[in-house]
Amino acid sequence: MSRHLVLVGGGHAHMMTLANLDDFIAQGHTVTVIGPSEYHYYSGMGPGMLGQTYTPEDIRFATRHVVEKQGGRFVLAKADRIDPKTRTVYLSTGASVPYDVLSCNAGSYVPTPNLPENQENVFTVKPIERLLQAQTQLVELMLRQPVTVGIVGGGPSAAEIAGNVWGLARSQDLIQPAIRIYAGSGFMARFPAGVRRKVAATLKRKGIEILTNGYVEKIDKGRITLASGVSADLDFIFLALGVKPSPIFEASGLPTGPDGGLLVNRYLQSTAYPEIFGGGDCIYFQDQPLDKVGVYAVRQNPILLHNLKARLAGTALTPFDPGGDYLLIFNLGGGVGVLRKRWLQFSGRPAFMVKDYLDRKFMHKFQSIE
Ligand SMILES: Cc1cc2nc3c(=O)[nH]c(=O)nc-3n(C[C@H](O)[C@H](O)[C@H](O)COP(=O)(O)OP(=O)(O)OC[C@H]3O[C@@H](n4cnc5c(N)ncnc54)[C@H](O)[C@@H]3O)c2cc1C
Repeated sequence: MSRHLVLVGGGHAHMMTLANLDDFIAQGHTVTVIGPSEYHYYSGMGPGMLGQTYTPEDIRFATRHVVEKQGGRFVLAKADRIDPKTRTVYLSTGASVPYDVLSCNAGSYVPTPNLPENQENVFTVKPIERLLQAQTQLVELMLRQPVTVGIVGGGPSAAEIAGNVWGLARSQDLIQPAIRIYAGSGFMARFPAGVRRKVAATLKRKGIEILTNGYVEKIDKGRITLASGVSADLDFIFLALGVKPSPIFEASGLPTGPDGGLLVNRYLQSTAYPEIFGGGDCIYFQDQPLDKVGVYAVRQNPILLHNLKARLAGTALTPFDPGGDYLLIFNLGGGVGVLRKRWLQFSGRPAFMVKDYLDRKFMHKFQSIE
């Protein structure tokens, strides 16, 4: 029986499904993919794109092209809401798309609750494609005047952005900006001391300041104010605060985890609606909370592909096993990084080279479908 499979978002967990859309279509199903951009940008290489190690073409998948080439339909829009009773996805364009089986991989965003609108030279680290606009504006500014860049956030993306702002100035042969990370009360606090020290030492060698004297409470017209009342004027600001799952699920009244992510069981299936699946940053995995890292989204690929096919065919689903510890490598700009896998930790050029090799391999695998 012909049925309609709808994918919301062409993120990291949908890569294998997108690569195999022709299988679904050969079985007589219709496939629609909804996304706000014709391309999906690989976040692992996003900071490297900011630092001009990579071009935008190096780090993106041509989602629309891949979908249409295989006979699917691509709808350029954001999904705003899902009505699970009528099995309909409502879009930002006002249109709606009915589904029989739905899979959501709409990622996460950086919440900015206290940020007044229309702030100049303030960028969140997601969506990744906006880092390109940040790069252009920052270079223009650095060409005109001495610049102070502030990165608000104390985690790996703050560290990677800071290092790659440094890398950007170096690659353009510009005077280095003053770079400050406003890390709240602790920098890289959830990582082992060895990793923390290596990342901090690498950044400090680049002249990057790491401030841990309190949280930023207010940002307005380039001035940031800490909870203590201390303020500073900055020319350019990146917000690398923690991410939250896509707001679609809370807006739809679907069961969600404490972070607002779609609550899914071990089959990556909504706990209330068996025809809804999801993967990546936008889900809350009921068995155990998962870190918001691309590694899990990538590991979910074969399970989502199998389970979407199985749901359409009425056959058995396969459970997702998150697996053990994962390899983490931070790109700290200028061709250096820090690597951590269980007890193994090292920094410098070799760490970056491992990341570069793995990231390019991942990209080639899926870009080759294009
Ligand atoms: C700067 C930075 C660097 C990172 N580096 C690493 C790293 O090196 N390694 C690692 O493992 N993790 C890294 N992460 C974490 C990683 O980004 C996320 O875990 C990963 O992106 C999750 O993949 P995803 O596909 O779920 O979400 P996303 O990558 O956010 O993809 C979601 C997709 O859905 C689309 N979309 C969004 N909203 C909608 C909507 N409403 N309707 C339809 N489509 C929508 C988007 O356009 C996008 O294509 C990094 C994060 C950041 C911010």
